[in-house]
Amino acid sequence: MPLADIQTRIAKAEAAANRAPGSVNLIAVSKVQPDERVRAVLSEGHRLFGENRVQEAAGKWPAFRDAFEGVKVHLIGPLQTNKTRQAFELFEAIHSVDRPKLAKTIARIAQEEGRCPDLFIQINTGEEPQKAGVLPTDADAFIKDCLAMDLPVQGLMCIPPVDEEPSLHFALLARIAARNGLTGLSMGMSDDFETAIALGATHIRVGSAIFGERVTGA
Ligand SMILES: *Cc1c(COP(=O)(O)O)cnc(C)c1O
Repeated sequence: MPLADIQTRIAKAEAAANRAPGSVNLIAVSKVQPDERVRAVLSEGHRLFGENRVQEAAGKWPAFRDAFEGVKVHLIGPLQTNKTRQAFELFEAIHSVDRPKLAKTIARIAQEEGRCPDLFIQINTGEEPQKAGVLPTDADAFIKDCLAMDLPVQGLMCIPPVDEEPSLHFALLARIAARNGLTGLSMGMSDDFETAIALGATHIRVGSAIFGERVTGA
C-alpha cells in the first residue's frame, strides 16, 4: 500500500478519535526490506524509520543518512547491553528498554556521552515467556527506577500476542503509562494501527503495509 494511503488512514483514525492532526508518528519499519523500497519511501519525503537489529541498521542507515537529510531511525527490537554504545550512534530512540541491566548501561553511557536517545520501556502485556519486556506487575517499579536514573523515558511500548485482541493490550499499556505520568505510547502495527490510534498511540510501527511483505521473516 502506498505511503500516502497509510497517511490518509492515520489522519482518519486521528480525526475519529478526536486527536490533533499529526499527533501520531508513523515509524516506517524497514527491517529486511530491499534498499530500493526504503529509498522509494525516503524519496517520497518520509524520514522516520524503525529497525529491529543493530547490525542491520549499521549496514544501511549511515549511507541513507548521507543521501537524505533529517532521517531519524528508532530501534524497535531487543538490545544487547554490549551494543548500547553503538545504538547511541545509530538511533534517535530506543523502544526496547526491558530490563534493569540495560537501563543501567544506558544511564552510564548517557553520562559519559552527555546525551541519550529517547527511550520507551517495553512492557510484556501478554506475559509471554518468549517475549521481551517488563511484566505489567513490575512496570511501575521499573519505570520509577528509570526515571530516578534521569533516563529520558518518553513512554511505553508493547507487541501484543498474535492471537489475542490487541485493543486489550493497547488499553493496558495506556493505563500503565497514564498512572506513571508518561505520554508516549509506541503501539500498533500494520494490522492494528487504527485501533492503537483510537487508544492513544503516539508512535505506530508499520512495516509490511508500507513496504510490502518482508522477503525473510524477522
Ligand atoms: C516488524 C515489526 C513491526 C512491523 O510489523 P508489520 O506487521 O510489518 O507492520 C512493528 N514492531 C516491531 C517491534 C517489529 O519487530
